[in-house]
Amino acid sequence: MPQLVDNLADLTALRDRNALDVALVSAINDLLQPKSTAICRVVGDAGNERWRICAQWDAGQPTPTSDSAWSRLDSLPPLSGHPLRQQALATRQLSQTSDCPSITVFPLASNAATVGVLEISTDEPLSEDAQRLVSGVLRLYLNFQSLLDYGERDALTDLLNRKTFDGAFLKATIEQEMAVENIEGDRRDAAGAGSYWLAMIDIDHFKRVNDNYGHLIGDEVLLLLARLMRAHFRFHDQLYRFGGEEFVVLMRCNGEAEAAGVLERLRATTERHLFPQVGTITISVGFTEIKTGDTPSGAFERADKAVYHAKAHGRNQVCSHAALIASGELLDAAANMGEVELF
Ligand code: GH3
Ligand code: MG
Ligand code: MG
Repeated sequence: MPQLVDNLADLTALRDRNALDVALVSAINDLLQPKSTAICRVVGDAGNERWRICAQWDAGQPTPTSDSAWSRLDSLPPLSGHPLRQQALATRQLSQTSDCPSITVFPLASNAATVGVLEISTDEPLSEDAQRLVSGVLRLYLNFQSLLDYGERDALTDLLNRKTFDGAFLKATIEQEMAVENIEGDRRDAAGAGSYWLAMIDIDHFKRVNDNYGHLIGDEVLLLLARLMRAHFRFHDQLYRFGGEEFVVLMRCNGEAEAAGVLERLRATTERHLFPQVGTITISVGFTEIKTGDTPSGAFERADKAVYHAKAHGRNQVCSHAALIASGELLDAAANMGEVELF
């Protein structure tokens, strides 16, 4: 029992989701000494869902392992590759094999957006007592995750809120530095890794939507645009609502052309989408590459200047900060802005 209390205290001391997953598999390891424990989450779009291992601890291993957060979707196994996990997901009930060694799969389904399973492999099938123990620890883990979600997510759109951005940005710059070091060590690694990009997305003339249709319909547009974004970006891109009608994406791309392409497709998809009552809306997007030693405010300033340029040049377009600087357009826009502000 003291072991259990220690494990639970460790679990709830954490604010980082990766660390929380590691704490869960480590708690199960301590309590049951299984052959292996893994947290597997479903990622990808409907129809092409895959299993991503978020933390796995095998007996005898010194530390847990996981699939890279930036894994290519097609490199991960499809849902049907693991029928027992699939069954636990579908039924929201524990599934277990009766042979030895045995596998027991518990569903992780506190909210629809983050479904997954906890898979435990043991020499003998887990006893009812052990199943109850794991279910109890899991309930605590899931409740704690909902609490974290509550503090980190925007209530209207369920996208991440501003609070978590700085931490994610810091992680991105550290990974970027490591990727640069890898370029020297292994060229293939660096080519696959890509770099981080920050995009700022601002709805055009959103005030008119509120003025013409009311705040509630305006809120619905925000919610539906957030859904379009979630369907558009890859599962590992991080989407934020920064208050109002401004969204931010932290994504990984291989070069400016790829980043521009992804954002341009979102712009075109948004322009074509029919929003109930309102009809169509458009967005202006500015983006910039995150550099080593960058600060959130520095990167934001660049993306914001690119958005401002898009707004000043007809809206409904995607602007790259670097391209604007290279063409000299941003300086012109900045100079004009200065003149306007003087009057
Ligand atoms: P621009 O094309 O220059 O971006 O014009 P805009 O009207 O989109 O921009 P502006 O910054 O002038 O106005 C933003 C509006 O967004 C003002 C406010 O009414 C609306 N807004 C901000 N937060 C919310 C929200 O949570 N819900 C709704 N419905 N409207 C919001
Ligand atoms: Mg705005
Ligand atoms: Mg706007």
